[in-house]
Amino acid sequence: MTDTVLTPSPFVGAVEPITATDDEIRAALEDAELPPLLPALAYLTGDLSLLRDELRPDPLLLAMPQGGLTEEQRAEIRALAFDTLRRFRDGGSRPAPVPSDEDILRIMEFAVGGADMRDYLPLLEEELAARGEDRRAPAWRKADVAPDLDFRVLIVGAGMSGLLAAHRLQQVGIDFTVVDKDDDVGGTWLENTYPGCRVDNPNHNYSYSFAQRHDWPLHYSTQEVLLDYFRRCADAFDVRPHIRFGTEVVSATWDDDEGLWHVLVRRKDGTEETVTAHAVISAVGQLNRPSYPDIEGRDSFAGPSFHSARWDHAVDLAGKRVAVIGTGASAVQFIPEIAPKVGELLVFQRTPPWMGPTEDYHAEVAPGLRWLYTHVPSYSEWNRFWIFWRMGDGVLDGVRVDEEYEPKGEAVSMMNAFARMMLVGYLQEQFADRPDLLEKVVPTYPVGAKRMLRDNGVWAGALKRDNVQLLTTPITRITSKGIVTEDGVEHEVDVFVYGTGFHASKFLTPMQITGQGGIDLHEHWNGDARAYLGVSVPGFPNLFCLYGPNTNIVINGSIVYFSECGVRYIVGLLKLLFEGHHRGLSVRKDVHDEFNEAVDAENKRMAWGWSDVNSWYKNEKGRVAQNWPFTLLEYWRRTLEPDPDDFDFV
Ligand SMILES: Cc1cc2nc3c(=O)[nH]c(=O)nc-3n(C[C@H](O)[C@H](O)[C@H](O)COP(=O)(O)OP(=O)(O)OC[C@H]3O[C@@H](n4cnc5c(N)ncnc54)[C@H](O)[C@@H]3O)c2cc1C
Repeated sequence: MTDTVLTPSPFVGAVEPITATDDEIRAALEDAELPPLLPALAYLTGDLSLLRDELRPDPLLLAMPQGGLTEEQRAEIRALAFDTLRRFRDGGSRPAPVPSDEDILRIMEFAVGGADMRDYLPLLEEELAARGEDRRAPAWRKADVAPDLDFRVLIVGAGMSGLLAAHRLQQVGIDFTVVDKDDDVGGTWLENTYPGCRVDNPNHNYSYSFAQRHDWPLHYSTQEVLLDYFRRCADAFDVRPHIRFGTEVVSATWDDDEGLWHVLVRRKDGTEETVTAHAVISAVGQLNRPSYPDIEGRDSFAGPSFHSARWDHAVDLAGKRVAVIGTGASAVQFIPEIAPKVGELLVFQRTPPWMGPTEDYHAEVAPGLRWLYTHVPSYSEWNRFWIFWRMGDGVLDGVRVDEEYEPKGEAVSMMNAFARMMLVGYLQEQFADRPDLLEKVVPTYPVGAKRMLRDNGVWAGALKRDNVQLLTTPITRITSKGIVTEDGVEHEVDVFVYGTGFHASKFLTPMQITGQGGIDLHEHWNGDARAYLGVSVPGFPNLFCLYGPNTNIVINGSIVYFSECGVRYIVGLLKLLFEGHHRGLSVRKDVHDEFNEAVDAENKRMAWGWSDVNSWYKNEKGRVAQNWPFTLLEYWRRTLEPDPDDFDFV
């Protein structure tokens, strides 16, 4: 285990002692998220007899509400928890000493329904960040390793990843500057202001491991709440003084002789400047450049039109006839919000999304649950772990192709077919009174071939409205008045909204990046971006990417996790540089190529790589350039510490 640096989360207040009455505790338990409750109580009290076999969640039902626990199991867990909390209160709310690793392992194995978790222990101890510890903080200082070395890092982007990189560099004591084209921090959560914008991975998981909040107002926070979170992180990390807003990186050129990047930046007023840095960290995101569909006549539409990521709040949609192109993640969030306001809504769908039933998608965290998070030490962290597992490695097998399984068109394994059956059942229930819509909303591709979206009934509610039409006839062109579909019908509209996603595969565009020997990064990639662990590209010394190629996930885990692992790896690379007195490093080509072959092979064995459904996970060459196909554990393991043998040094 690495050295632990204790820096308390800016958000976690001390967990308060329990003074509630028996009745108040019982009432709070009615709101509890039950699967992580007994694990938290066992961890808190050291009483492992709470982990009764008959109360273990079923690993096959992890994705269900309350982990698929039956009513009897739920009642028994509440009763056990009540007794335990009452004793804890009466004993002065004093937690037992932190359990031994063996005991934590037993608790974890219970929490996940029995899987062997030994390999996960150190990773999950970090993710639990028990009692506010920052277990991923660097355990070294530049002042100790290379005190006299002049070394500056330029971080491009002040979103979730850039802030994180800045925080870690500050902890190590490395000079850095952050530039962002926007006027504030937040990236995704600053730019996407469309109605209904929210995260689809619960916040207890979608947050920094070392800056957890116990008091999230919602399970799935809205854009405003997330923006506030990242702003508060920027303040708490004290990185704002290092950020230059309204400053876009246009190009970066590596100079082998000097061991420097020359970076051309452009300010909003058009003025340009060249800055130098010994290393560049790209934290420009994958979903930062809106993509518009390539439809004939797109510019000829006479009315207002905008992309969901550039929502034009000046356009009043009330009473208007509005066309939405796309039914992806953003559209599914904003359509239910605008449907009741517009006059008529025409939704143009190419491929229907899978919808994961999520009762609490829009719900506030119930008062009892919030009380438990703030009064039961480690419950909030165990809930984070529970989400981590049930929306990550715990369900990965359900989207893996089983070679023995036939037929494969709509499902890739028995487990995948089971998931399909459950999700189709949900849609059948939702659209029972509208068979005409049902046939349009049931996907024909396997579960996991595209990102699963979340729903609590509002999607069907919106599509079934009298003023909403779901159109699946392909679009042929856009005219000054509206949209013409393949059947020759012209649909006249007042406003166009593009819910058509981002140039996700065009990593690091439109920056022009020139590496060793004058190689242009985009020419080198030729539309097929690849990097080692998403971080390093051969021939581009000291260029490090966060949320780079193949670091995305389909089954709803959190990108924050990937960026935390990526930043640790980059900080480790800087240490390698300093210790070896090198000026630069980039991954060896053979190591990079072998890694990418393994990624490609594994992606083909996953629903998203196997299926030929259109998705933003595939680039123009048809290769899955977005997704990490292995377990989350595997990314953690591989990024824990760089191996010097994997790199060429300058
Ligand atoms: C609507 C929406 C919902 C999402 N929901 C989830 C979710 O539920 N769970 C999840 O894990 N992920 C989700 N994501 C993915 C999300 O992008 C990541 O979780 C995360 O925000 C990425 O952070 P980032 O800092 O890497 O990139 P971003 O947040 O995209 O930030 C990139 C920053 O770089 C800046 N930048 C870009 N190019 C330049 C340049 N050339 N010069 C200077 N600055 C530049 C941008 O202005 C921006 O501030 C969602 C994305 C969107 C769009």
